[in-house]
Amino acid sequence: MFNKLGPTVILITGVAIGYGFNHFISVVDTPADQTEKKVVEKPQPKPQKPKKSPEEILMADTQKYCNENLNKIPGQFAADHLKSICEKVKILPNCTSVEGDPIFHMEKEGVSKRGKRILALSLIHGDEFPSGTVALKWMSRLLDIDSRNTWRVIPIANPDGWKKGTRMNINGLDLNRNFPTNDWDDMALDRWKNQKKSDPRRYPGPGGGSEPETKCLISHIQQFKPDFIISVHTPYGILDFDGPEIDAPHFYPLQWRRFGNFPGSLGRYMWKDRQVPVLTIELKGNDAITKLEELDKLQDITGLVAIRADEKLSDSEKKSNN
Ligand SMILES: [Zn+2]
Repeated sequence: MFNKLGPTVILITGVAIGYGFNHFISVVDTPADQTEKKVVEKPQPKPQKPKKSPEEILMADTQKYCNENLNKIPGQFAADHLKSICEKVKILPNCTSVEGDPIFHMEKEGVSKRGKRILALSLIHGDEFPSGTVALKWMSRLLDIDSRNTWRVIPIANPDGWKKGTRMNINGLDLNRNFPTNDWDDMALDRWKNQKKSDPRRYPGPGGGSEPETKCLISHIQQFKPDFIISVHTPYGILDFDGPEIDAPHFYPLQWRRFGNFPGSLGRYMWKDRQVPVLTIELKGNDAITKLEELDKLQDITGLVAIRADEKLSDSEKKSNN
């Protein structure tokens, strides 16, 4: 027992002595000014604004771009109306031009059960300024009315061409020959070289769908699933329809005329390859800028064409199913 208890007792005594000794040393050596703990306040980090997500940055850039560019489109539009449009615009992810400018859109839900989904775009050719006037007038009107159809409008489909005043995008190609139609690989470049004699204004690009602007429009087609597409151009003064035979309403001074479509064109990509009708509006000169009120009528007529074309298509579908 002793052998076992002995070291234990010694150990306890040692701890007691050690405690007293250390305590003594610490009191003697501690300078008076450090006996009280100083409360040092750490500098608090300034409250930081939450970082913006890439989507929020893109949206802010888009609204800024919209405000800066809509008032450059020809036509007399009230400044507060343009501002209201820019508050409503949206952008799909990756819908930016080669130079990074946003390709934005505005959408308005239709009220009619018979209403169709209409995708309208302008300035795919950046130098056809009056085409932008049509899209802007329609967006402006959609703010004020309850429309039958659901409209999505893309006013500046080729921002870099619009900025430079060129038909082509910044890579020097015609976006309306760049859609990846089924025949693009076989025909687009060949036809451009032989029939168009390598006209630089109609260069279809190195491959179907090579350009970010074309990809953006394809994203809209996939995401919005339009029943009908309107592409506004200038200056031939015609209504060129790629779609079923319909009883077409008149719109003076534009005449209905089937101009045909081309490898890489939106008309061929949507109508020939996908059976979604495309109305190409070719304005006559600068009429659109001077006769803004006529554009309301044009919008109503195209809306009616969309409904008639869709009924015709569903009739022929029903027939083929029987
Ligand atoms: Zn054009």
